[in-house]
Amino acid sequence: MKKTEFLIVGQGLAGTMLAFNMLERGIDFRIVNSANKSKASIVAAGMINPLVYKRLTKSWMVDELLPEMIWNFQHLEKILGKSFYFSKKILKPLSEQETNLWKKKITLPGFDFYIEDIVGESPVRGIKTAPAYGIVQQAGYLNLSVFLAHAESFFYKKGLLIEEDFQVTDNMDINKEIECGGYKAEKVVFCEGYHLSRNPLFNFVKMNPAKGEVLLIHAPDLSEEYILNKKVFVLPVGDQRFKVGSTYEWEDLSEEPTEKGKASILERLDQLIGLDYTIENHWAGVRPTIADRRPLLGQHPEHKNVFVFNGLGTKGVMLAPHFAGVMCDFLSGENKRLPDEVNVQRFKEIHPVT
Ligand SMILES: Cc1cc2nc3c(=O)[nH]c(=O)nc-3n(C[C@H](O)[C@H](O)[C@H](O)COP(=O)(O)OP(=O)(O)OC[C@H]3O[C@@H](n4cnc5c(N)ncnc54)[C@H](O)[C@@H]3O)c2cc1C
Repeated sequence: MKKTEFLIVGQGLAGTMLAFNMLERGIDFRIVNSANKSKASIVAAGMINPLVYKRLTKSWMVDELLPEMIWNFQHLEKILGKSFYFSKKILKPLSEQETNLWKKKITLPGFDFYIEDIVGESPVRGIKTAPAYGIVQQAGYLNLSVFLAHAESFFYKKGLLIEEDFQVTDNMDINKEIECGGYKAEKVVFCEGYHLSRNPLFNFVKMNPAKGEVLLIHAPDLSEEYILNKKVFVLPVGDQRFKVGSTYEWEDLSEEPTEKGKASILERLDQLIGLDYTIENHWAGVRPTIADRRPLLGQHPEHKNVFVFNGLGTKGVMLAPHFAGVMCDFLSGENKRLPDEVNVQRFKEIHPVT
């Protein structure tokens, strides 16, 4: 058995961002990732939206998260020699009520960084008529499948990535047995996405995973200048292809795309655009959302060698770079205290493993 300090379980967005942070700080680790488990990160559209539309507020911590996110992904583009982060404005058709709210909000300090003045006519053709249109700045998307595929081969070539399923069994003594793929580790960090909900060590965490579905369409006459967003997003990914989504489903976590999901996306798409398109692909995945909708970081309340980095939920792209850094500071001992809001200790009532 070879030895390592940390095993990172999972090479989705969370595990990958944590691994890059650990590599840069010279922390000894190996990643184990199961090829047989689903990965929300490759289904995700990867959209970056600094706003929450409901009351037109800024997304949680956005002023802090955005610059860190941009710096990190541009830095990783240089390391991996590939482009995957794209800045793109969002064009949002507004109702009369939304127009009034938009006009009010733009006068508030700091808001003009995120929204532009409304316009009466759509700057691109093909969108159905609305009373007005709003433009969101500082938005864009991360091509997660490109990023993660390049990260995978980067770590694999360095001998840091092993394809294996880390099994947590009810009767294992995790304090003594962190072993997987020929490695024995001192500590383990679970970055398992929504699969954490089946990990008996974390059965005290209140997860609320949400299945989502996304379509890929080919729309030869649709402008690629903006991400369109009203009840559905239409995200240009190049070659006149657009990712369109998504859905939210909390009961059926089957991981399979459904006709119901497709119909729901298409109904909303047809309310937004009036151009021909063909459907080329259809995916489903499960978002790792925590009941209080905050990330999940830190040390297991009982097993001091067991850690978790999860709960990236619906806005994983914005959250992952900052919180991977916070998690790495914590693991290296540089920062001993995590913010209460994200600390796994907030769920500290432990139920016995059954
Ligand atoms: C339909 C949909 C649309 C989305 N759209 C967006 C969006 O537009 N913008 C945005 O920011 N976010 C979006 N998200 C959310 C985003 O995908 C997630 O926040 C993020 O990708 C979660 O990353 P993760 O690494 O925690 O989990 P995952 O990506 O699920 O990765 C978990 C990994 O762990 C591995 N694993 C699990 N258990 C084990 C084990 N025991 N042993 C070995 N390996 C294991 C799995 O194989 C997998 O590779 C979307 C999600 C979905 C489903």
